[in-house]
Amino acid sequence: MFQDITDRKQVEKNLENAKIAAQNVLEDLEVEKERIIEAKAKDDAILMSIGDGLVVVDREGKISMVNKAFEKLVGWKIEEVAGKSFVEVVPREDETGNQIPFNERVLTKILSGKSTTTTWYYVRKDRTRLPVASIINPIIIRGEMVGAVEVFRDITQEKEIDRSKSEFVSLTSHQLRTPLVGIQWTIDLFSQKEKLTKEGKEYLNDIRFSANRLSVLIKLLLNVSRIESGEVGVFPESLDFVELINECMRESRILCDKGKVSLIFIKHPKTLVVTADKNMVRYILQNLVANAVEYTPPQGNVEIMLEERQDTVLLEIRDTGIGIPRKEQEHIFRKFTRASNAVIMRPDGTGLGLYIVRESVNLLGGKIWLESEEGKGSTFFVELPLLSHARVGEKGLVLEVK
Ligand code: ADP
Repeated sequence: MFQDITDRKQVEKNLENAKIAAQNVLEDLEVEKERIIEAKAKDDAILMSIGDGLVVVDREGKISMVNKAFEKLVGWKIEEVAGKSFVEVVPREDETGNQIPFNERVLTKILSGKSTTTTWYYVRKDRTRLPVASIINPIIIRGEMVGAVEVFRDITQEKEIDRSKSEFVSLTSHQLRTPLVGIQWTIDLFSQKEKLTKEGKEYLNDIRFSANRLSVLIKLLLNVSRIESGEVGVFPESLDFVELINECMRESRILCDKGKVSLIFIKHPKTLVVTADKNMVRYILQNLVANAVEYTPPQGNVEIMLEERQDTVLLEIRDTGIGIPRKEQEHIFRKFTRASNAVIMRPDGTGLGLYIVRESVNLLGGKIWLESEEGKGSTFFVELPLLSHARVGEKGLVLEVK
């Protein structure tokens, strides 16, 4: 009997202790919950106050969160857009006002796995256009993609500066062309009409060389300014790619003879008809072939290959030239970029040709890349669609063979 009472008391004491322990755990949980809520509120406040626009979407591309800057920049409030498809609510346009189709939107591509940076225009709620630079990344939780987050910046000011810079380059280039053509004509007239001494002829040749270089430079700058202001149109027509390459090879003969470089069209179908902008394709070919020849020392080879793929054509231009140092390859398509070894071999290059080539390839809906080893040679690859889409704008590029 006595033993029973003692046991019961012990059980009650244990229960009391367990109750206190449970209460303590509950209190701790409550504190932890409050801490998490506070931390989340802080994170939300930080995200809400970021000066750049921010939008989070789920894996279907439906909006789950936007911040204050988004609301201010794009004009939509979270309660108006939550749960709606971002791509549908905020259309995206290119420079010329063409809407980017749903499956070409970066976000759509991201949701299938990549991260990327782009510059585009968003169409605001009031239908006005907002130029933005955006960075989009997938959100991965425990190895699974649950959505994407995009941060975008209003680049109206940069665009305006770019526009006036391009306008300035374009105006000055046009203004410079007229007197330069006058100089070139006078040089020709002078050399035909005047009896010149050997020395006089050499002087005149130097003037002609410099005037021609200036003319090339002005045309390149005009192309750059047109591309940058988004004025270049694409005018596809039916072309035989094989014939264009043969034509380019004929035009490069003098350059090859001068550099003692052999140029061969080694592998190609009999004909390969594509629908593309002739000026642009010629520009791409001329520049890549001229570079390959000019950056290849005497007795070297340049080989051209052309292959039809499923919906594309693949062009390869391979040379045994100086190559491009590995760490300089990444930036070689940028404006005014020249590799260190090229500057030594040909001090007079501009670093503009490849930039214009890349932009032209992009305008035609294609891709360009290279493989190169310093001292061994380079191969430039260009993949173009068999059918390029038309784009409104100014007629083509100002053509120039180096
Ligand atoms: P440029 O030839 O006038 O310098 P480009 O824009 O055509 O300008 O080329 C940019 C740079 O790319 C060149 O200066 C050179 O460093 C590199 N490059 C282009 N093509 C080749 C090539 N086939 N072989 C080696 N380097 C090349």
